[in-house]
Amino acid sequence: MKFETLAIHAGRGPDSATGAVREPLHLSTTFERGADGAYPHGYDYTRSGNPNRTSLERAITALERGKDAIAFASGSAASLAVFALATPGGRIVCASDCYYGTGKQLRDIVPRWGIDVEFVDVSNLTEVSQALAVPTSLLWFETPSNPLLRVADIAALADLAHNRGTLVGVDNTFASPVLQQPLALGADVVMHSTTKYLGGHSDVLGGIVVTRDAGAECAALRQYQATAGGVPSPFDCWLLLRSLPTLPLRVRAQAANALAVARFLHADKRVEKVHYAGLPDHPGHEIALRQMSGGFGGVLSIEVPGGRDRAFAVAAKTQLFTRATSLGGVESLIEHRQSIEGPHSEAPAGLLRLSIGLEHVDDLIADLDQALDA
Ligand SMILES: *Cc1c(COP(=O)(O)O)cnc(C)c1O
Repeated sequence: MKFETLAIHAGRGPDSATGAVREPLHLSTTFERGADGAYPHGYDYTRSGNPNRTSLERAITALERGKDAIAFASGSAASLAVFALATPGGRIVCASDCYYGTGKQLRDIVPRWGIDVEFVDVSNLTEVSQALAVPTSLLWFETPSNPLLRVADIAALADLAHNRGTLVGVDNTFASPVLQQPLALGADVVMHSTTKYLGGHSDVLGGIVVTRDAGAECAALRQYQATAGGVPSPFDCWLLLRSLPTLPLRVRAQAANALAVARFLHADKRVEKVHYAGLPDHPGHEIALRQMSGGFGGVLSIEVPGGRDRAFAVAAKTQLFTRATSLGGVESLIEHRQSIEGPHSEAPAGLLRLSIGLEHVDDLIADLDQALDA
């Protein structure tokens, strides 16, 4: 079935108890046992499973064309669940240009479990190959990356890693399954901060891991979900399910807006650099053309001359763009990344990250045009 159809129907259907066309919200934390001690509907306690969560997991499994999906209370809880698959003595190799919270987990939490962590430039296959020469449990990266919008070659990296017996995990938050499907390109697990495009309205926090196979990793993640307990609430799952039907429409329109904004900024002398894989002079453009379809995403970064002060002044002058962190919502946001990321930030001082929303693109361009006079 096609993506648009799955986005509306996968994991859902009229409620058999009431005929409700859209899914009821199941807030109950506990479920009745049969006289024989069994659980006739398959649910016992909401931390281990809940009908709204099951629907969400089935829907996103279908959208990423995976075998199963395991939902968490945030994207951070989801990435940590994958890192927790490594056992003491294990090793994780991660892209150096990654979401700063991911880097923080791999620097501050994971090494305490007796797991070695190395950061590499994943656009350099020789560097990755050298890093994987030491037995490695997991290779982790995101593409396009945050905040420099670098592109990693999913198929080439998966090949390299699989030749060494290394599991491949891709954070697909920026592209969403609308524009990029890493499992089909060889990734073993895909992770999302569903807070971003999947939620799409900046009103729900969540994360999910989708697995390509139903094997040992999948079972371990399912076990971890119930035991560690960082699960999403039924209402959060319900909100996410409500967002999915419009996901393809939203993401393609946001990507089209972002491309128009990127072209405008690229031609503007007041902007030093535009980081967006949809521009032909972006170093990852060819790879992005090959592995993405329908657009290059709704996020781009720009660098303005004059460093931090000038970047702050531009962000202060915008009227439509809201100065706030996060991305993927219907409203456009602008953010100075270095000042939020802290000491390990790879973001240049003059860098502003733009999350392009669904406003009319002419209004967005006019707003940036007047703000760049700051
Ligand atoms: C936001 C984000 C995360 C973390 O997700 P939370 O839901 O905020 O915990 C991870 N990766 C990427 C690429 C993100 O943008």
